[in-house]
Amino acid sequence: MLTEAAVAERPAEKSRSSLVVEDITASASTLEGFDGHEKVLLGRDDDRGLTAIIAIHNTTLGPALGGTRIWMHDSFDAAVTDALRLSRGMTFKAAIAGLPFGGGKAVIRADAKRHKTPQLLDAYAEMLAMVRNRYVTAEDVGMTLADADYLRRQTPNVAGTTVGGSGNPSGYTALGVFLGIEAALKHKTGSGDLAGRTVAIQGLGAVGWALAERLSRSGARLLVADINESQCNKAVEMLGAEAVSTKSILKAEADALAPCALGGVISQQTIADLKVGVVAGSANNQLLHHDDAIALKKRGILYAPDYVINAGGLINVAAEIDPGGYDREKVMAKIAVIPATLSDIFADADRTGKPTNEIALQLAMKRINGDR
Ligand code: NAD
Repeated sequence: MLTEAAVAERPAEKSRSSLVVEDITASASTLEGFDGHEKVLLGRDDDRGLTAIIAIHNTTLGPALGGTRIWMHDSFDAAVTDALRLSRGMTFKAAIAGLPFGGGKAVIRADAKRHKTPQLLDAYAEMLAMVRNRYVTAEDVGMTLADADYLRRQTPNVAGTTVGGSGNPSGYTALGVFLGIEAALKHKTGSGDLAGRTVAIQGLGAVGWALAERLSRSGARLLVADINESQCNKAVEMLGAEAVSTKSILKAEADALAPCALGGVISQQTIADLKVGVVAGSANNQLLHHDDAIALKKRGILYAPDYVINAGGLINVAAEIDPGGYDREKVMAKIAVIPATLSDIFADADRTGKPTNEIALQLAMKRINGDR
């Protein structure tokens, strides 16, 4: 098996298995979102159907921690760009949550429903083992708890597992997002009470569904959309939600919009049609471009920076790697800080006239640079 050092020295080498790992840091540096990544690796195994990118952005605060997304991007470059943008966000997410980890993320370019086989995961586990000291993975879109457990049996650098004790991070992410929506509504309107408030949720997957349940219990009215119609039907039946089309959810009239599907949904094209006071959801990289936050601000829409509000799952996953062992109480205490951090960011944004994502980035950079 190749070691990571061997990968760095020899750009492409075939191990005795059919896995080939290549250091593509130089070629990735021309792509959007590169932003000084320390290392970008491409793993290919034609026999076992694997094309995987592991992006390690910054390990100043500790080993890179971030999930693996299994998704069939339109092109290879789109997959690498997604890995880079997600990985960069993980650096800031861990820093703001006060975790001793850096940022990294992986993308397996595959359709999780059709291509995810034990053989593919075996090949990926081999690749993960090569970066065991620098990158720890966990769940993301397309990667389930069962997949994480399967990988964990082959390499130790997998968290968010049953073995390690933290389990699926989605419910913890949803809790942080729920508390974040309350904080955003409080800042925007003076009250964080959700009773009678309308929240539009885009995406009823692991996080979106758990969030919908919490919101429903708090008396919120739900508008929901998912490309998977059965999820919407379930929400209508079980939570009394109103289902809307995937096209109209971003135009829905509501107090808050919670993007909980994929990234890039807030853009120059969609901002003009938004009819909400607050954008606060779990999706990573909700803004297509950093400057879209300026357009949101101009429209008077309060944006809860994604890597601040959606850190609950990362906090839970990171607790699994704590030398003292997984401690749920500590996890809940750290998630409880998310709304306070957001409130500080909102207040700083008001004071300085800057968009909230700019303030969040400054806070993350301060922590990475050891200023506080
Ligand atoms: P998931 O795959 O379980 O759910 C995503 C849902 O979005 C699916 O139900 C899917 O059908 C739906 N969807 C996809 N495209 C859509 C569209 N155009 N319109 C409406 N629905 C659409 O993923 P998840 O774990 O719930 O994560 C959701 C988002 O939150 C992702 O962006 C993920 O990166 C982010 N996130 C998740 C966690 C976590 O703990 N799972 C943590 C931080 C961030």
